[in-house]
Amino acid sequence: MTLISSFIADNLFYVFLGVVALTLFQRKYGKNVVKKRMAILYIAIMVFTLHISAVLIVEFELSDSILLIWAAAVAVVFYYKRDKVFPFRYKCVSCSSRMSFNEIFFDDSNMCESCRDKLKKAEE
Ligand SMILES: [Zn+2]
Repeated sequence: MTLISSFIADNLFYVFLGVVALTLFQRKYGKNVVKKRMAILYIAIMVFTLHISAVLIVEFELSDSILLIWAAAVAVVFYYKRDKVFPFRYKCVSCSSRMSFNEIFFDDSNMCESCRDKLKKAEE
C-alpha cells in the first residue's frame, strides 16, 4: 500500500512551492530576517526530501512504512535543531503581546513594534 505516499507525492510539491515563495517575500526585508530566512530554507529542504522520498516510494511500489520512518527521522532532526528550524515566536519576547504575521515571519528580533522602538531609543 502506498496510500500516504501517493497523497504526499501528489500534494507536497505545492507546499514546497509555498515555502519557497515565502523566502522570496522575506528577501524584501533584507538584513532584518537572516535567521528566519535560513529556517524557511531548512524547512523547504525537509519538505522537498519528503516529497522526493514519497515519489520514489510510489514509483518503486515500496511500503508506506519507509516514508513514516523517514518522516520520523526528519522530526528528530527538527527537534534537535528546533532553535534554527523554528525561530518563529507568536508572542513578543519582551512584553508577551501577540505579534502580527509580518513580525512573526519577517523580523528576526521576535519583538513587537513598540518594544523594538523602546530598544532603539534605549540604544540611542
Ligand atoms: Zn513587545
